[in-house]
Amino acid sequence: MENTLTENHILFFDKLLKEGCSISAEDLFKYSHDETEDISILPNVVLKPKTTEEVSSILSYCNTHEIPVTPSGARTGLSGGAIPLHAGVAMSMEKFNKILEIDEKNHQITTEPGVITQVLQDTVKAKGLFYPPDPASKGSCFIGGNVSENSGGPKAVKYGVTNEYVLNLEVVLPTGEIIWTGANVLKNATGYNLTQLITGSEGTLAVITKIVLKLIPHPTHDLLMLVPFFNAEEACKAVAEIFRQGITPSGLEFMERDALIWTKDFIGDDAIHIGENHAAHLLIEVDGFNPGLLMDDCSKIMSVLERFETDEILFAESQAQKDTLWKLRRSAGEAVKANSIYKEEDTVVPRYELPTLLSHIKRIGNEYGFKSVCYGHAGDGNLHVNIIKGDLSDEKWNNELPIAIRALFKEVVKLGGTISGEHGIGLVQKPYMDIAFSNKSIDLMKGIKSVFDPNGILNPGKIF
Ligand SMILES: Cc1cc2nc3c(=O)[nH]c(=O)nc-3n(C[C@H](O)[C@H](O)[C@H](O)COP(=O)(O)OP(=O)(O)OC[C@H]3O[C@@H](n4cnc5c(N)ncnc54)[C@H](O)[C@@H]3O)c2cc1C
Repeated sequence: MENTLTENHILFFDKLLKEGCSISAEDLFKYSHDETEDISILPNVVLKPKTTEEVSSILSYCNTHEIPVTPSGARTGLSGGAIPLHAGVAMSMEKFNKILEIDEKNHQITTEPGVITQVLQDTVKAKGLFYPPDPASKGSCFIGGNVSENSGGPKAVKYGVTNEYVLNLEVVLPTGEIIWTGANVLKNATGYNLTQLITGSEGTLAVITKIVLKLIPHPTHDLLMLVPFFNAEEACKAVAEIFRQGITPSGLEFMERDALIWTKDFIGDDAIHIGENHAAHLLIEVDGFNPGLLMDDCSKIMSVLERFETDEILFAESQAQKDTLWKLRRSAGEAVKANSIYKEEDTVVPRYELPTLLSHIKRIGNEYGFKSVCYGHAGDGNLHVNIIKGDLSDEKWNNELPIAIRALFKEVVKLGGTISGEHGIGLVQKPYMDIAFSNKSIDLMKGIKSVFDPNGILNPGKIF
């Protein structure tokens, strides 16, 4: 594959896109990285197409000339999916930023992929409709990035992740052909499910140019509480117990002590008190349409919590207080990043195994000498493990960390879990795919990739 573009290639792209083609040093750097640790690889050119036909012309040309193409959304990814590993073309979808239709009769939305997730959510909310998947990055990430990563977020525990809302996709294949993957219907038993295959494929099979999503009625009420625990494993045990009472919260988030303290410092919050002996907190939200039923849910949750050693529970009394509590949770990732070089793992296990997962994380950390700070979507069994470099030597960090991560992932898989719940494999988790899959399964995936992308031009070097 060509990884240096000639002047002729650049001339072709320039003529096709005019202002949408850039080789400025500033743009090359901007599109060389996402939010994954500190990795940066420069592309040769940045392209910003505006139409499906332009995407098709770019891919068709690159396929003929075997030029690597890496699609990107808002570049908030945490597994390196949008990093142009083999240089070539960085293709930004940011100009695909229009909501095309809100079909209120059928509760559906058709959108371009470069719409910011929160903008899409706010737009449908104004019509009483709800698009639930809400990554903590929802204020900046794109809906196309969410579909490509099959993203989750706090609401996933009740409402499910992105793929449960994707009905149909317009995509451009690496060869330049344009197809729709399915139909705008709520059920579809017609052939292989190409829609779901593309969803979560991390920009390796096709470029998404239109998305049809399912919407649901927007809940009208919610209640939110912050629960301090004296012991972090006990907090994890309480999670499964809440569900066993027949309640499905609309958010059930875990934050270890350091995660909350670092985030309070990061956002300058002094309203939330953290006691000396608070080891972890659960942030629990219930939502729905009937305030009386929500109060009943809260009473049931309180009766579960009485069986655990907790300190005084904070009930959010105003929208402002709810916003502060959610901001604390949503800013945890940025707060950790601001504190130290770190490596984040996106472990997920069956919910009941969460306490065991936490104890393995701490044991392996002690064994290898790594401190970790954990937070995440506990209701889904999804714990983000942030391994902190602090003042560890580069040698220890580079040589021993991959061994410790491998040991951790093996325990995760033994517990019935897997190595990424929502951030994807991308570049940084691919050395660990053999822990999650047999050789045969990986071969099947490689076979699918080669059917879609015979010349291997689309986002090469990702996933496997
Ligand atoms: C502070 C912070 C909090 C986060 N919280 C969450 C969270 O709660 N839950 C969660 O799941 N994730 C979370 N993330 C991760 C990230 O925001 C998501 O993975 C998000 O979906 C990425 O969207 P993006 O537009 O930034 O995509 P990018 O990072 O630009 O790209 C992601 C992948 O999608 C591909 N891609 C993008 N657009 C297209 C397209 N149109 N066609 C084909 N492929 C495409 C890229 O090639 C790449 O492989 C968080 C990230 C940050 C920085």
